[in-house]
Amino acid sequence: MSQPDALTWSQIDTVLLDMDGTLLDLHFDSFFWLEHLPVRYAQIHQCDLAEAKAYLLTELSKNRGSIQWYCVDHWSEKLKLDIAALRAEVSHNVGYRPFAKEFLQLLQRSPAKVVLVTNDHRSGLELKLAITGLAEYLDAIVVSHDFCVAKEQQKFWREMQKVEPFDPERSLFIDDTLAVLHSAKRYGIKHLRAISQPDSKIRRNIDTEFRQIGCFSAVNKGLELALQAGGNDE
Ligand SMILES: [Mg+2]
Repeated sequence: MSQPDALTWSQIDTVLLDMDGTLLDLHFDSFFWLEHLPVRYAQIHQCDLAEAKAYLLTELSKNRGSIQWYCVDHWSEKLKLDIAALRAEVSHNVGYRPFAKEFLQLLQRSPAKVVLVTNDHRSGLELKLAITGLAEYLDAIVVSHDFCVAKEQQKFWREMQKVEPFDPERSLFIDDTLAVLHSAKRYGIKHLRAISQPDSKIRRNIDTEFRQIGCFSAVNKGLELALQAGGNDE
């Protein structure tokens, strides 16, 4: 049995949540970029699949973590493909990570404000919201593309603060990308958690200073206890 995650819920007013790889299974995105896109690229541009894979891998490894890297319009133009339409072809892979929906339902019962903070492009966000119904659990959605800067950069947090103010000292932020967590830490967000298995089909072992969440059941247990205690520390 996993132990409750020792988050001090009475000290948390705002819960900032990443989407891909945190609330939702990263398999949708990994499968699309690494498997489906090369196949469709090779079909549409009539080239060899191995060649398409090698080319796309090289291109995708460039500028990782920049807003351009997350931008569907950029990739559509560069690859001469309708990326949003191709992503919709594998939308059956969109789904919650284990116990993530239950986590959101528990958060609804808590006084904390729940904000989705994503680097995904609006087209991907809309697709995922339509499939999962995720928006009903959220108080706000912040899309880094609106500020033209990714969560990996400090400027993102300063811009977000202007439209969706939060107290970093009393905020929890959960993300699967370590560079993003480091950026959040540098900005001063006090409570941080990393997702250890963002993609249900790919095992990863990360060595990180951040406490890790495997699935949300341990977090849920801690939050449930806090709710039962009326918001007191566990
Ligand atoms: Mg993520």
